[in-house]
Order: sequence, then C-alpha cells, then structure tokens
Amino acid sequence: MTARTHDLFAFSSISVAVGRGFSPQMSLATMLVALGVTFVSGLAPDLDESTSALWKRLPAGSGSILSKVVTPVFGSHRFISHSLIGTWLFGLLLRHILMWTQSFLLVDINIIWWSGILGYGSHLVADSLTREGVPYFWPIPVKFGFPPISFFRIKTGGRIEKYIVFPGLLLINAGWIYFHYSIYVAFFRGLK
Ligand SMILES: [Zn+2]
Repeated sequence: MTARTHDLFAFSSISVAVGRGFSPQMSLATMLVALGVTFVSGLAPDLDESTSALWKRLPAGSGSILSKVVTPVFGSHRFISHSLIGTWLFGLLLRHILMWTQSFLLVDINIIWWSGILGYGSHLVADSLTREGVPYFWPIPVKFGFPPISFFRIKTGGRIEKYIVFPGLLLINAGWIYFHYSIYVAFFRGLK
C-alpha cells in the first residue's frame, strides 16, 4: 500500500474508535498528539524499507545513512515489523518513549499509546489486502492476506488501490462520520 492509503487507513482506525464511543474525555493537546502518533505509527512498519514514506518524511531522509543502518535490523521488507511480535515490540518501545516524554509533555499517554497501536495495526490490515500479504505469525514464514488467495488481492500502488480502495475508503469514512455525527459532536465538545 502507498503512504497515502496507509494515512487514510490510520485515520479510519481512529475514526471508528471515536464513532464507536471508545474515546474517553481528553484534552485538545492529547487529541492532537494522538492524531500525529497515529499517522506516524501507521507508516512505522515500513521503516524496514530505506526508501519508504516514513523515511522520506523523517529529517534523516530516505536512503540516508541512518535509514541504511536501521533498515537491516528489521531483516527484510515485510518481515518482523509486519508481525504480531513486531507490533508487541513497537508497543513496548512506544510506551518507553511516552514514559520519557511525560516529564515535559502534559498529555494522556494511555490514549496516545492506544492511538499508536491502532495506527500500527491499521498498517498491517491494509497490507493484508495486497498480493504480498503479511507474515502475522513471524518467524513462521507464512504470509496471510484477504482474500486468502493472493491472486484476488490488489497490487501496491496499482489502479485498484488508487481508483477503488482509496476513494472507497474516503466514502466509507464520510458515511461513518455522517451516521455517527452526534457522537463526534459530543466528543469535540468534551475536549478539555
Ligand atoms: Zn507495509
């Protein structure tokens, strides 16, 4: 999946959580940081590729020395970072980073942590729709996807992703927000 589609999947995961009423009361600062963390986490599994979108958005840059040093740690593309173990490790790392920021950032780190996990998970779900699949149970070398037969899945950056998946998901988001409008209004009114 392209970065644009991953951003939309990450946004959708948060949108579903808010619409289903899973979002507790929070401050505006927490909401903004949570949103940012969701988007970054939604691209984080692709740090295993030195030319990926997140590397391009980071100050170190794509193809930078840092990206070339860090990338091999992940093994190869769609390897440990695209698995349940990878998600767990990401969760541990994110919790450590958030604990460290607590001394100077006045935000609810639990909400931000969950936003990160949602963003990360949304990446794996999105990649599951592509031909390559996702090695959820790494180190077991089997890649899973939906539909189960890879032939029926989409090609990353292909026409189906561009003209069907992306606009389709945008429409679903619009419909979702429309039908849960009152919950969104209550959520925004509840911001401290
Ligand atoms: Zn990926």
